[in-house]
Amino acid sequence: MIVGIGNDIVDISRIDLRLEKRVLTPFERENRIKIDAQYVAGRFALKESYFKAVGTGIDGNSFQDLSFLNRSNGSLYCKIHKIGRYKIEPFNFLHCALSHDKFAMATTVVERERGEVYVGIGTNLGNREENIKIALEMIEGFAQVLNVSSIYETRPYGKTDQPDFLNCVIEIDTMLAPEELLDRLLDVETKMGRIRTERWGPRVIDLDVLFYGNLIVENERLILPHYDFENRMFFVQPMCDLNKNFVHPLSQRTMVDIFKSLSQGLQ
Ligand code: ATP
Ligand code: MG
Ligand code: MG
Repeated sequence: MIVGIGNDIVDISRIDLRLEKRVLTPFERENRIKIDAQYVAGRFALKESYFKAVGTGIDGNSFQDLSFLNRSNGSLYCKIHKIGRYKIEPFNFLHCALSHDKFAMATTVVERERGEVYVGIGTNLGNREENIKIALEMIEGFAQVLNVSSIYETRPYGKTDQPDFLNCVIEIDTMLAPEELLDRLLDVETKMGRIRTERWGPRVIDLDVLFYGNLIVENERLILPHYDFENRMFFVQPMCDLNKNFVHPLSQRTMVDIFKSLSQGLQ
């Protein structure tokens, strides 16, 4: 269901390039060879359209809270750094478009779809089946678990001298925004006795947000989609069980396509 739509139009000839400092994020500067009035006008219009879609206007947000970037094939996407105080229901899909002529014209649409938030679960200490069961019960406290993939026994990844893992992926429906969800999941890990000693070390439970719809998020605490998703069969295979046609929002590849590349060692 669409929960917000916003548009904006900017006369490119009226853009003062000094506006660039306020409007562009470091990501947007890096993403473009030449910063010109058209680029600044486009980013200004896109951000205004986003603020309208989420209902805050500029008051609840800053131009530095999100970046509109182009993939290598030229297509546009939005990377959210900080989710401001939006006045609509939490959304899990965002779509944006931009055109220019003498004007830059931008549109943002945000949707809330049931489910489509995927969490990867891994455990290699203690009673692993029981750990997954307990984690699911605790997650039910703040989200609805809609689907659970098959459970896979996997060799450890990264740091190999430790016990084998059980891994699965679940699909949840939640009213928590991405960072609130992360907090609740980290809280479950702590309550279940997870102690972080070394990177990729053995753990009672690891709960990673793989996807929150098609949202792309990057800040010090949270990266979405999971930064290493496409290299890990223990994420990709269970995702294929749940939704093989789900599209990775950055690479725009389907789960089944990623699975095929990984199984052929093409990654
Ligand atoms: P990896 O992230 O490579 O799978 P890990 O799961 O063992 O390793 P953790 O110790 O569980 O890493 O997490 C370290 C930090 O990663 C967390 O405190 C959290 O802030 C951050 N993080 C960033 N993005 C995510 C995400 N999508 N899901 C979970 N944690 C994330
Ligand atoms: Mg992990
Ligand atoms: Mg983790």
